[in-house]
Amino acid sequence: MSNLNQIKSTFPIFQTIANKNLVYLDNASTTQKPQVVLDAIQDYYQNCNANVHRGLYSLGQKSTEAYEGVRQKIANFISAEDSSSIIFTKGTTEAINLVASAWGDSNINEGDEILISEMEHHSNIIPWQLLAKRKKAVLKHIPLNVNRELNLELLDSLLTDRTKILALVHQSNVIGIVNNIKKIADKIKNTNLVFLVDGAQSVTHLPINVQELGCDFFVFSSHKMYGPTGAGVLYAKTNVLNTMEPYQGGGEMIDNVTLSHSTWNDVPWKFEAGTPNIAQVVGLGSAVDFIYDIGLDVIEKNLNQLTKLALEGMKTIPGINLFHSGDASETVISFTTDGVHPQDLAMFMNEDEIAFRVGHHCAQPLMKHFGVTSTARISFAVYNTTKDVEKFIKSLKNNLDILRENSRDKTDPNLKQVPEVEI
Ligand code: PMP
Repeated sequence: MSNLNQIKSTFPIFQTIANKNLVYLDNASTTQKPQVVLDAIQDYYQNCNANVHRGLYSLGQKSTEAYEGVRQKIANFISAEDSSSIIFTKGTTEAINLVASAWGDSNINEGDEILISEMEHHSNIIPWQLLAKRKKAVLKHIPLNVNRELNLELLDSLLTDRTKILALVHQSNVIGIVNNIKKIADKIKNTNLVFLVDGAQSVTHLPINVQELGCDFFVFSSHKMYGPTGAGVLYAKTNVLNTMEPYQGGGEMIDNVTLSHSTWNDVPWKFEAGTPNIAQVVGLGSAVDFIYDIGLDVIEKNLNQLTKLALEGMKTIPGINLFHSGDASETVISFTTDGVHPQDLAMFMNEDEIAFRVGHHCAQPLMKHFGVTSTARISFAVYNTTKDVEKFIKSLKNNLDILRENSRDKTDPNLKQVPEVEI
């Protein structure tokens, strides 16, 4: 698909009467789905639907082939050594919980240390807090430096011989910064540390080669990369996978079961108990084809251009505080506005059919670091256009003027009233 301008028309949601003028800038939260992905899911249910790994009949084989075919496709997409390193989960959150339980329970002992960072999404904090509590382990974090980057100068002093796992986000879902994973992996290369990377934001627009990155685990969600909800991926190095106990018990993950004792299936199926989200995984496969079809380089270029344009526009508006370095490769922009609560702004801009996110973005420790409770956030996808950004900037400017005027004279009966809503 060479013409970027046509891409929006391949997303049915933007063709509906209700959403034909929608400027959707909440892509870090979830992306919209192209027709090809919707078709793949429909086609699966219409032509292939049967449980996987069970039926000897043709439909069962077709379904298994469709599902297992995506495993290989994902392995190629992130340059994994082998498709047995790919475990399907329902998303990033479940993948991290899987590691915290299945790896953590067998590898973390009392007094051991788990290292995360101050810029993590809650889904890369809470599973480790739960593990630390279960095992009486210690959870430590890498703070940010004044440039909002991970303070890697402190890494050596944070690592001890009790540190067992380092779990870091690749690209922040709040400030868009892309951590230099390879550099960090090189720094810990001579330790026994296991390294988990949360790729929920990066995998959508950056080429990922897990072997080059040097991580042991890499996790991401289908729904942020044009695929359906309910599917996600845990990549794990085979040697690490082999040290892990099952995550959940049930059908499919076993080899032999007696009433008192059972043995486990091979990896990756050992970690996929029960009927998996087959249709969603098929949809994820189609989303990967969609991305290949456009080209990650084209997607990345579009995101960079839109980020640059948005930053330029925002800088012309007084009283905007950007949590951003100005580098267009940081494709998520968080901001606050002097005198106007982000929530009020989002509600007013919703009237102009502009959708963006307001809140703590599931990163409360990062909010605390910045001394705020919430920010507004815009984030881009392949279907966003320069027109979207222009509309956003125009609406931002107009509504800030209105809201600031409003707060200057609350007694004016002609002004829009902002209802109180909890974030
Ligand atoms: N990590 C990051 C960096 C994210 O942006 C998100 C989603 N906002 C998650 C983890 C959690 O992803 P999911 O809700 O799909 O499990």
